[in-house]
Amino acid sequence: MKKINRKKFFTAIAAGTISLPFLIRMGGKPQAQTTEAPGIISGKRYQWRMVTTWPPNFPVLGEGCNLFAKWVNEMSGGRIEIKVYGGGELVPALETFDAVRNEAAELGSGAAYYWQGKAPAATFFTAVPFGMNAQQVNAWMLSGDGLKLWEEKYAEFGLVPFPGGNTGVQMGGWFNREINSLADLRGLKMRMPGLGGQVLERAGGTPVLLSGGDIYTGLERGVIDATEWIGPYHDYIMGFHQIAKYYYAPGWHETGSELEIIINKKKYDELPSDLQAIIRTAALRMNHWVLSEFEAKNSIYLEKLIREENVNLRQFPKDVLAQLKVYTDEVIREIVESNESAKKVYENYKAFQKRSSLWARSSEKIFYDEMLS
Ligand code: CA
Repeated sequence: MKKINRKKFFTAIAAGTISLPFLIRMGGKPQAQTTEAPGIISGKRYQWRMVTTWPPNFPVLGEGCNLFAKWVNEMSGGRIEIKVYGGGELVPALETFDAVRNEAAELGSGAAYYWQGKAPAATFFTAVPFGMNAQQVNAWMLSGDGLKLWEEKYAEFGLVPFPGGNTGVQMGGWFNREINSLADLRGLKMRMPGLGGQVLERAGGTPVLLSGGDIYTGLERGVIDATEWIGPYHDYIMGFHQIAKYYYAPGWHETGSELEIIINKKKYDELPSDLQAIIRTAALRMNHWVLSEFEAKNSIYLEKLIREENVNLRQFPKDVLAQLKVYTDEVIREIVESNESAKKVYENYKAFQKRSSLWARSSEKIFYDEMLS
């Protein structure tokens, strides 16, 4: 590179009088010692495939992936083009993790708790019953050890994880009977995946695994007595209010479910550093956008459900929640006692939650109790 006056150079960049092509020319022929932004110099373009666990263009989550692809394309000046595939379009939804590992796609979007069969620790990166809220989970991820632990775990699978959105607190679900005591959960066949399902089982219920597309008919035909899904916006779209009497809060089993973007580590490492930074920045933007969309849309649709659809909104009794929490502790204890890596992640999560809860109890909780009750 020609010797240049640094002060003049940066002033010119700030003033916009040096264009990108000029900067590229200044780089001249790529030299061995040039490590900065080699992609800009080589102009190498990447065409990536993004597989997802979401139905195509699924509200918020699929839409978020489409936006992520758009942002990456814009920021990279078209050097990375990402084609987004809904679940089943390139590979089945629940093969997203393996597809990215095996380079059938470069990246994917889903939720870590889908992969708990491969790594029990994974569940804690998405949702812990009676766990942290979205704000606390994000703090654990980005300013605590959460993401570091997640990266360590996924490195074992040749993957790089990024927080890719958060649903915020979910709803407790749709029921055709009132839940006044724990006895009302006995014998209840409910669609509830993950740790929540295991807790329900301990309470005498039967968790049933149904994919999103089968829940409505399952509930309508009595294959299940109750279901959880996400929150007011998605639940409204699914039409559960047409076939279930009671809508219960809160989603004790998913208090702030974190979603993920996963990238094949080899593919990610091959990118020049500026494109890696673009991916990281777009992922962070998606993380923020998804949570904002959930918060904004859920409040609109909860109001719609109550005012227009006359939905019976209920709260689980305190003693029911207290007992579900006891069962939760039992379920988690069994997982961490049998898996060292899950133990390490959960202990870190729990310690963060404890500190964070003290702060929340001493601040926001007082505000909410006083202003909203
Ligand atoms: Ca859910």
